[in-house]
Amino acid sequence: MLLNTLLLSLIVFVRYLCFAGGLYFLCYIWKKKSWEHKQIAPTRPEAKVIKHEIKYSILSSILFGFMGAWMWDLWEKGKTLVYLDFSKYGFFYALLSLFAMLVIHDTYFYWTHRLLHLPWFYKKWHKVHHSAPNPSPWAAFCFHPIEALLESLYMPLIIFTVPSHPAVLGGFLMLMTVLGVVNHLGYELYPAIFHRNKFLNTIISATNHSVHHRFNKFNYALYFTWWDDLMSTRYSSNQAISRKTVGVSTDSELHHLGGFAPVPEDSNALQS
Ligand SMILES: [Zn+2]
Ligand SMILES: [Zn+2]
Repeated sequence: MLLNTLLLSLIVFVRYLCFAGGLYFLCYIWKKKSWEHKQIAPTRPEAKVIKHEIKYSILSSILFGFMGAWMWDLWEKGKTLVYLDFSKYGFFYALLSLFAMLVIHDTYFYWTHRLLHLPWFYKKWHKVHHSAPNPSPWAAFCFHPIEALLESLYMPLIIFTVPSHPAVLGGFLMLMTVLGVVNHLGYELYPAIFHRNKFLNTIISATNHSVHHRFNKFNYALYFTWWDDLMSTRYSSNQAISRKTVGVSTDSELHHLGGFAPVPEDSNALQS
């Protein structure tokens, strides 16, 4: 199990390094000037914040690797619902299982994230992730070790409830990493249709998650806004609730408090 932990930790870390590093290079170095208009916050993350994010992401990669090795062990003992013969359930089931994985993980993440925002848990563990109101793509795995372990429990939750093919699991983990990086990118790369279309509008974007980091409230979900909509915790779903929660009377003040430029009262700028 030690060898598997080392191997899987390395895979998790290299995957994180490729996506976070690749998107950091693209937005913060290569397209720095030409993509200025896509930048969400007025300032860029400081070097010390990025250092902090990478340090904790290395720790999280080791813990995620450990969880993966444990699941591997349970699979070898025949205790999971992982199946190797792709034709057993077919292609459409594979797609359906991927969707089920995203929904299960999103639900688990939303509720554990709400828990971690209770003052005691926040101070103890979740503050590590909220080290700055303006995170960088390197923050994708920046968790306190206890939070990393808690968050990694989505893995047993999935492989004990959803018959999963390793290729689908691999695709899901890849998607999880890419979207974790995109959510913390600090640049809005999704086309405008993502913000206008009623269906696409429920997919979490960098703008959506940047609001969570600015206010330390709202927008708790990971992939879809469904739980935030249902529980009235989505920033853009009800401005009146948002204003009341942070104690300001106008949307303009609300935006200003979050570090965004004041906007007209009817603005939809943060709609995500
Ligand atoms: Zn975050
Ligand atoms: Zn949070």
